[in-house]
Amino acid sequence: MTTPVPMDLPSCADAAGPDSLPVEAARRRMLDDIQPLIERESLPLRAAIGRVLADDVPAPIDVPAHTNSAMDGYALRGADLDDRGAAELRVVGEAFAGRPYPRAVGQGDCVRIMTGAPMPLNCDTVVMQEKAQGPHSGRSVQPGHVLLAPGQRPGQNVRQAGEDLRRGAVALPAGRRLTAADLGLLASLGRAEVPVRRRPRVAFFSTGDELCSVGETPADGQIYDSNRYSLFGMLHGLGVETRDLGVVRDDPAALREVLREASSDCDMVLSSGGVSVGEADRVKQVLGELGTLAFWKIAMKPGRPLTFGRLGGAWFFGLPGNPVAVMVTFYQFVQPALRRLMGESNLTPMTFHATSLERIAKRPGRTEFLRGILRPSDDPANAGPQVRKAGKQGSGILTSMSLANCFIVLPPECGGVAPGDDVPVQPFEGLF
Ligand code: AMP
Ligand code: MG
Repeated sequence: MTTPVPMDLPSCADAAGPDSLPVEAARRRMLDDIQPLIERESLPLRAAIGRVLADDVPAPIDVPAHTNSAMDGYALRGADLDDRGAAELRVVGEAFAGRPYPRAVGQGDCVRIMTGAPMPLNCDTVVMQEKAQGPHSGRSVQPGHVLLAPGQRPGQNVRQAGEDLRRGAVALPAGRRLTAADLGLLASLGRAEVPVRRRPRVAFFSTGDELCSVGETPADGQIYDSNRYSLFGMLHGLGVETRDLGVVRDDPAALREVLREASSDCDMVLSSGGVSVGEADRVKQVLGELGTLAFWKIAMKPGRPLTFGRLGGAWFFGLPGNPVAVMVTFYQFVQPALRRLMGESNLTPMTFHATSLERIAKRPGRTEFLRGILRPSDDPANAGPQVRKAGKQGSGILTSMSLANCFIVLPPECGGVAPGDDVPVQPFEGLF
């Protein structure tokens, strides 16, 4: 490490203390507590995009359903090829996709076939049209016959029934968040509806006397509330139902009321702010009266203080107030928690390595999440992805968050990064 780390709030900038919890440990504790929602619904295919499958979907048929041709050409019996892999065969008919050749094919015979057409009975091989000289080629062959060039192999150019999916095999497993390809796959199985988990209802609010909402005129010293908008965006990306409870004043009675109301009909409640010195004790007291909560100091930057637990019938996350800290803690904790609640099996953010183009100062102790810009290498000698910082890294600076397309995740033991070092990165992947 070469340059000193810039300081946030005094309460957030000290190195990881003995009582602080590593990111991974906090995530594990939280995920151990949360069980998927039990309720499910059956949805038409299109409405199920982005939803999480509640049951395995087995293939009711082989895919492809029929052994079929992978080429336009001629279908034949592989045994009719001579020792050079050539043949001259009589053309007895045609097979199209959706219009099969209706009879068995005899020795010395073949069928003109199109891509996707079911293989005629007795045929196991297709010779592509470009390797065939027949009536269409202009070359003289016996009338009604086709000459197949040497080099053909028995069994070639045929897609076997069930080679993609066997009847009865699991086509898509429970816990899968349905993608565009999945919808296509389900349609190819003839599925019109699928069972998915219910969408969680998530309420969120901001705390702070200094906050005003967009559309209002800020009083002297007030700032606009941005967290409710970034939270909405992230929740929307996950496909949950949202309930915006607005700004709550720094007043225990107001906080008590909004928490009671939110936890009565939501699966999860998110608050931001109210964790700095002076506010934190009051907030803790109210939360302590209403629920069973853990107040964690997480060995991370930004986003050190995090409250997690049960509030009535809902899960509760008390997120930090700083706009970037909110997004970092959402991505690292709330997102996997919601994915678990939705029954998804794939929970942790994808992490891989990229070459840092810059020096990054860091002290060992905490996991640091920096906003990064990931891009393909322009260096032919070093072809992997490259990453640089997206700009100023203060925990209130949203412009660099907006420019970023990944987090650079520096683990606790890391004591700084030199240009050319490999660093772990987590791409945002459409979540933000
Ligand atoms: P707090 O934890 O409430 O002390 O907030 C920490 C910092 O984040 C303060 O500078 C707050 O003004 C700021 N902050 C808190 N909530 C919001 C919000 N919803 N939108 C924008 N900034 C906020
Ligand atoms: Mg505050």
